[in-house]
Amino acid sequence: MKHVAIIGGGVIGLSAALECARRGHRVSVIERAPTQRGASLGNAGMIVPSHFTPLAAPGMIALGAKWMWNPESPFYIKPRWSWDLLAWAARFWKASTRERVDRAAPLLRDLHLASREAYARLAEEEDFGLVKRGLLMLCKTARALEQEAQMAAHARALGVPARVLDAKEAAALDPNVTMDIAGAVYFEQDCHCDPARYVATLEQRLRAAGAELIYDAEVTGWHRDEARLAAVHTTRGEIAADEFLLAGGAWSPALVAELGLRLPMQAGKGYSVTVPQPVEQPQLCSIFTEARVAATPIGNTLRFGGTMEIAGMDKRINPRRVAGILRAIPEYFPRFRPEHFEGLQPWCGLRPCSPDGLPYLGRTRAAPNLVVATGHAMMGLSLAPVTGQLVGQIIDHETPRIDLKLLDVDRFA
Ligand SMILES: Cc1cc2nc3c(=O)[nH]c(=O)nc-3n(C[C@H](O)[C@H](O)[C@H](O)COP(=O)(O)OP(=O)(O)OC[C@H]3O[C@@H](n4cnc5c(N)ncnc54)[C@H](O)[C@@H]3O)c2cc1C
Repeated sequence: MKHVAIIGGGVIGLSAALECARRGHRVSVIERAPTQRGASLGNAGMIVPSHFTPLAAPGMIALGAKWMWNPESPFYIKPRWSWDLLAWAARFWKASTRERVDRAAPLLRDLHLASREAYARLAEEEDFGLVKRGLLMLCKTARALEQEAQMAAHARALGVPARVLDAKEAAALDPNVTMDIAGAVYFEQDCHCDPARYVATLEQRLRAAGAELIYDAEVTGWHRDEARLAAVHTTRGEIAADEFLLAGGAWSPALVAELGLRLPMQAGKGYSVTVPQPVEQPQLCSIFTEARVAATPIGNTLRFGGTMEIAGMDKRINPRRVAGILRAIPEYFPRFRPEHFEGLQPWCGLRPCSPDGLPYLGRTRAAPNLVVATGHAMMGLSLAPVTGQLVGQIIDHETPRIDLKLLDVDRFA
């Protein structure tokens, strides 16, 4: 039995903590913002085997350049003089090739499918709002539908079921909501859940397993004993452990800089708005393809989320981007009108984005007893349970059940 100290109480840190506790380790989770929890509470709650394409993909740079001047656009890189941003953008550009995306796709598929299985197993014992009805990629234009149909063919080639539907077939699949679309692609294996309830479920299980949840403590530095890490300095004193897991989301790189570990990362800010009593409540979660907006029924509420704003560690709400999300809704769901969103408080979260769109997962040369699990970008909820399982295997020096070469923590060192 080891003592594992986990930095970060988001979905990644908590999922890993539960797996370590299940394996008989003593676990301490250190979290500084117990009510906010990074990007983990207000996200769109989608569990997505359909998302086997990393963010760094062909066409993304061109899309970013096209949307650069539109204050309501869903993807935006704020121009600023930052060496880290320039280096990140150069790596993103280098990673955005068909060959790299093709190499990453089977790995992402396997990770999402393993996570989906773990979510389904957990849902047999706990209710965190898991719905296994699939996801619709809604397309307003024939052109977008054509592109999504190509993606569907790619998915099928990878063994992920995907069906191209016309507008009538999509409406038959989710008769609860009126849609104004040309068609859709249906990914039947995708699911959704209530991310806040998933986090609460993990915490409840961790408490029952005797794990220590040290909330209101911020990790400020490290205490080294030669090559190994002996303890972390926190605002509530030093915490010693045998193994340390870095799961600090977008804040992770700053935390390990003093250890000489370079973890290129940018925060990808996204927003969500949750409608308490929607005029129509879909049964399935969906993505508005052209607008890049996600719509997820969560209990009796309906959450809309979107935007990827690379603008530094800035958690301020930009009303223009939120307006962009809200403006898209009636275009796809015409029964919704602007007044339905009046007075709603937007939420925002910073996604931890590596330059190649793949997580960092594994041990590092920076310290033999440090494991890193971060950089999940827009897939962190979906990949949380499998990340937790893999962290457990890494902590116990087992060979991970999935080849993690592409996720090497030191790949940009
Ligand atoms: C609008 C939006 C929609 C999204 N939708 C989805 C979706 O549908 N499906 C999906 O899979 N993903 C989605 N995501 C992405 C997902 O939310 C993230 O990938 C995920 O939350 C990352 O989890 P994490 O635990 O790595 O980081 P976080 O959730 O950011 O958690 C990191 C935690 O570490 C803590 N921390 C940081 N530094 C310190 C320190 N020094 N000391 C102590 N604690 C520290 C922070 O307070 C934070 O609580 C969405 C994101 C956004 C913004």
